[in-house]
Amino acid sequence: MNSTIRHRAAALGLLSCLALACAPAGDAGPGDPPAGQAAPVAPIPDGPFLRALGTVQDGGLPHASCNCIRCEDARRRPPSARRRVASLGLLDPERGERVLIDATPDIRTQLHALTDIGDPPQGRTDRDPLDGVLLTHAHMGHYTGLMHFGREAVHTSELPVYCTERMAGFLRENGPWSQLVDLREISLEEITPGTPFHPLSDRRVSVEAMTVPHRDEFSDTVAFLIHGPERSALYVPDTDTWDHWDPPLLEVLEGVDIALLDATFYSADELPGRDPSEIPHPLVIDSMNLLAERVAAGTLEVWFTHLNHSNPLLEEDSAARREVERRGFKVLREGDAIPL
Ligand SMILES: [Zn+2]
Ligand SMILES: [Zn+2]
Ligand SMILES: [Zn+2]
Repeated sequence: MNSTIRHRAAALGLLSCLALACAPAGDAGPGDPPAGQAAPVAPIPDGPFLRALGTVQDGGLPHASCNCIRCEDARRRPPSARRRVASLGLLDPERGERVLIDATPDIRTQLHALTDIGDPPQGRTDRDPLDGVLLTHAHMGHYTGLMHFGREAVHTSELPVYCTERMAGFLRENGPWSQLVDLREISLEEITPGTPFHPLSDRRVSVEAMTVPHRDEFSDTVAFLIHGPERSALYVPDTDTWDHWDPPLLEVLEGVDIALLDATFYSADELPGRDPSEIPHPLVIDSMNLLAERVAAGTLEVWFTHLNHSNPLLEEDSAARREVERRGFKVLREGDAIPL
């Protein structure tokens, strides 16, 4: 099926089982609609767009070795009810091009959720499944999926991996990642924060990395500012609190239409006995207060992502979820499409 036909078929709802958001009736989990209702599958937009491929913190849902109420619930239900680690597709349906933002431990199913874009070969491994990968940083949820591009699995050839100089050095100098470089399965494309680059062949789409504060043990950490033909988006899956930002978040968001933000924790209540300064992610309640004016004015769309297993926003009927929606903010769901 060529991409135009796929596009039309999707618009008619005929491809509903290709997308991650599709769950068979009756296996709803946290964030799913009630049993009997299929999760909505966003139609493929005409132009470049972002697709949510995962929305939770690095450990996924369920977390390994966790028997908290949300992890147990996710484990009890079929796999389609589980949540994948935060990642986006930057997609051009007209040219059939697919770029992945962050390579997560859930990359196997996340790559599959992109097979309705382009014209992948049928009946065998697609050794050219992507046009590029953008990496934010070297924490386990954001780059370890690269291992699937090695000879044990997809065995890509010169797949462009866009990352900062420090991140590139980390991959080049440490196994097993260095083997991907040595075998030329990936090609490290070093990016400079503040300098736009073009991972898609449509030059109307540009991406700019910006350095953000985070615990940077192995690499620095970046957010991506993505400019499309119509709209621009800032993707910040992982950062320290906004008061560490210089320039401030509101200044960065001037002229930006969409913000997809780190929502690891909803409030400090989730962390009994923990010192919040050890894990200084911005709290959702603080992010809402900071951005309330722009959201109320309709000049900024805010989507929350990178949710920790402790976050009540994982439950569709939670008071936290209702409060977020009442204030005009959104919780990102796998399968959501955001036109650029
Ligand atoms: Zn993370
Ligand atoms: Zn848990
Ligand atoms: Zn991180």
